[in-house]
Order: sequence, then structure tokens, then C-alpha cells
Amino acid sequence: RKLGVALLGLGKYSTGQLAPALQQTKLCRLAGIVTGSPEKAAQWKQQYQLADKNIYSYTNFERIVNDPDIDIVYVVTPNALHAEYAVRAAQAGKHVICEKPMATTVADARRMIAASQKAGKKLSIGYRLHFEPHNQAMMHLGQTQAYGPLKHLISDNGFKFGNDTPWRVDKALGGGGPLMDMGIYSLQGCIYTKGQVPVAVTAKFDPNTNPQLFKDVEAGIKWQLQFADGTTADCHTSYAENLAGRLRAEAANGWFELQPAFAYGGLAGSTSKNDNKLNLPNINQQAAQMDDFAACVLQNKPTRVPGEMGLRDVQLLLAIYRAAETGQKVATTDVQQLIDRT
Ligand code: NAD
Repeated sequence: RKLGVALLGLGKYSTGQLAPALQQTKLCRLAGIVTGSPEKAAQWKQQYQLADKNIYSYTNFERIVNDPDIDIVYVVTPNALHAEYAVRAAQAGKHVICEKPMATTVADARRMIAASQKAGKKLSIGYRLHFEPHNQAMMHLGQTQAYGPLKHLISDNGFKFGNDTPWRVDKALGGGGPLMDMGIYSLQGCIYTKGQVPVAVTAKFDPNTNPQLFKDVEAGIKWQLQFADGTTADCHTSYAENLAGRLRAEAANGWFELQPAFAYGGLAGSTSKNDNKLNLPNINQQAAQMDDFAACVLQNKPTRVPGEMGLRDVQLLLAIYRAAETGQKVATTDVQQLIDRT
């Protein structure tokens, strides 16, 4: 049988991407929902033929513990709420996929890992690009030094924010602004292309062009990752302007890049050698990501995108904020010891 997934939080990403992807997955299927909205519950029940007993509210969702139809809970709420629901799902004996960023504090991320470990269940982060062919090729070309040792990485990712999801500019719910939401893709992209965790970061906030909208989160931020061998990565994210969504690697013998690198589809790559190495198919990323996690559960294998990777990234994101706030270079040595997974 296919594993049953319950989506928790039926906003834009669940509605537009995850539920449709769960119609294409081979090892798992949409079996339940957790929502605070009776209207959404009725609509989803009809659209996806969900059993009444598999429709939960945030308050009664603990009874999921007795529901054999649900194997995996997928947490898709605003960032600061991930921890509460991921912990409750693990305590109810379910495997968890949690959206990025994993949490808004290191303590929350650790709490989530501990809860899953205690329950003997798996925890993964919604890092869909680890299952996407163009980004997998960037990992391969960078980590095997196919164009020689990497010298410099460049990445940007951002969009002009229209305030359709106000929690994204509310620090209490978002944990920060575009860095937490969009910059995390550039952070991830540089780390998996290089195949290493940076040893230090520097950063600078963009000018706040719209103080009414950006009251307690950054409008944008530029940061530099520094790797142990001297490779650097320059990144930019913003909610004040549309950025290309690029991931470019410059190596001793050539360059290779994706643009767009992080979108749901239409990814395209080019290289200095015109060698078609990044001429690859686009796939349903979310379906591939969820099927991989289902395979990990079914075969009791570790996931490539575990909670520990989410924790590492939360620490790095907070290190970037600290660098911007203090104007100082921030060492990430303690972060590196946590996990040697890229
Ligand atoms: P959204 O605002 O559209 O949806 C959030 C959902 O959480 C809503 O249904 C809302 O009702 C629910 N919710 C529950 N408690 C809430 C509360 N106290 N306050 C506000 N909302 C509450 O947001 P979204 O774009 O769907 O993003 C949800 C999560 O998914 C975020 O963590 C985001 O970073 C992540 N996301 C990931 C990707 C990706 O490509 N991996 C893409 C988009 C969003």
C-alpha cells in the first residue's frame, strides 16, 4: 500500500504544489488534512475524496495517533509554528516532513529532532531541490570538481513581496524576512555545490525602502560565505525587488550555472564549455521529494535531507543575521561540527 500523508496547514504551498504532487506520487498518497478552517475541510474532502475520520483540526489532531491511514504528517504552516506541530506529530507516532526553514530558533530545531528520535520516527525537511536533476548536477559538477576547483559562487533569490501572506513580514511568525524564506535556497545551493559548510559569514542589510511594510524584518540582505579553502560565495535575497533566482559556480577551468535555479519548474542551465551537462529534464520536484521520503520510511533508510540539515541551516541563517547586525565576520565552527552532510 502507498503510505498515507496528512498535510498540516492548507495554504498556498499545500494547495498549489503539495496536494497536486501527491496525485503523482508512487509510494505515498494524500490521505488526510489538518486545518483550522471548516470551509477548507469541506472543499478538500470533496476534491480529494478524503475520509471524514482523516480530517483533523489543530485542536483535535492528537487523535491521529490511532489513525493507521496516516504514516506521515507534512507541516506546512508559517515558519515559527513548524516546531509545535512537528513535535506534536512525532509524539503522535508519525513520521514528519517539515517545510523550510525548519524552525526560527535553534532550540526549536533541536526539540523537533529530539521528539522524532524519542518516537523512533523519521524527520525530514522540505528541501525539494535535492531531488531535482539540475540541482543534483550542480552538486555533482561542483563536488567532483568537473571544471576544476571552485573559486567563487554567486546566488540570488527574491521577489517583490505583495503582502498576500502577512506572516512573511512578521518576525514572530516568519523568524525573519526574505533570508528565512528565499535566501535559504541560495545558502543551500552554495553549500551543496561546494560540498562543504562555510567556516565564516559576513553580511549587510539592504536599505529599507518600505519601512511601513518591513517593520521588523529586513527588506533584503547580501551575505558572503567563506569556505575553509578560500572559496567564497556572494548571495543576495530581497522582498523589495525581483531577483533572477540564479546559482552560478566559477571554477579554475570554467563556469556552470542555473537560472532559474530554484523555481518549481522551467529550470535551465548553461556552462562555459557548452557541453550540455546541465541540459536536463524538469520533473515534479515535490512528488520526487515525497516519494524519496516514503522510500526511506518503507526501507528504513536515512533521508538525504534530515532534521540535522535543517538545524545546521537555522544556525547558519542566524549567523548571517548576527553578521549583518554586528558588522562583524561570524565564525561557524560550532555549526560545522554538527553535521558533515551537504
Ligand atoms: P500560507 O500563508 O499560504 O499558508 C500557511 C497555512 O498555515 C495557512 O493555511 C494558514 O491558515 C495556516 N496556519 C496555521 N496556523 C496559523 C497561524 N497561527 N497564523 C497564520 N497561518 C496559520 O503560506 P505558504 O506559502 O503555504 O507557506 C507555508 C510554509 O511552506 C512556510 O514554512 C514556507 O516557507 C513553506 N514553503 C515552502 C516552499 C518550498 O518550495 N519548499 C514553497 C512555499 C512555501
